[in-house]
Amino acid sequence: MMRGELLYEGKAKKVYLSDEPDLYLIEYKDDATAFDGVKKDHLEGKGILNNTLAAVFFDLLEKKGVATHYVRMVSEREMLVKALTIIPVELIVRNIAAGSISKRLGIPEGTVLKRTVLEFCLKNDALHDPLINHYHIYAMGLASEEEMALLESAALEVNAVLTPFLKERGITLVDFKLEFGRHRGRILLGDEISADTCRFWDSFSGEKLDKDRFRRDLGGVVEAYREVLRRVK
Ligand code: UDP
Repeated sequence: MMRGELLYEGKAKKVYLSDEPDLYLIEYKDDATAFDGVKKDHLEGKGILNNTLAAVFFDLLEKKGVATHYVRMVSEREMLVKALTIIPVELIVRNIAAGSISKRLGIPEGTVLKRTVLEFCLKNDALHDPLINHYHIYAMGLASEEEMALLESAALEVNAVLTPFLKERGITLVDFKLEFGRHRGRILLGDEISADTCRFWDSFSGEKLDKDRFRRDLGGVVEAYREVLRRVK
């Protein structure tokens, strides 16, 4: 697989053209950023762990009938994906309160939510990904009502697949962020599902096994990601 022109470089990934039309190559970097890029570090091996974790999750989801952009792993830090036009709405799925919902609504971290919460954020770094609702989405023409119904049911399906899969491996899926995109008239799950975009708590000790170790200076970031991969592989 030949790596073509660099199309886009984000905080944690690079996107390249591939030698197959309609397919992109994604390279997972070792860079870690938080708080809109204010906190930065280089975490040796993180890219390999997240690429492999995302491949495991996308593979599982495809087997369960969720349409994703994932095609296959190309190297330890690269995956081949279907080219997407990303819908600029991030979907956050929450089972347990943590992070921004705890701060915003005063729900103590660790509170099991009486039902799953879906949130929508505008994908816009300059505006710090503000929370938006359906009215904003339709008013701004970000997605149609039909597309939103599809995105929401896909997000809940991802939760229904990943929650028990992780539970059996001693990991509680607290929350996660998804992005979707359009590909040849279809909507596919895109971006990544990894320890950078999910909160994983050890089901027994409650230990954080995700990016909060970086955000909150808990140390052992790469070790925690490696532990998640060891349990799911
Ligand atoms: N998340 C993400 N990218 C973002 C914002 C959030 O991957 O730009 C993930 C985050 O890792 C967590 C979930 O979405 O698993 C909910 O994050 P939250 O809104 O609590 O934000 P944070 O506490 O990270 O500011």
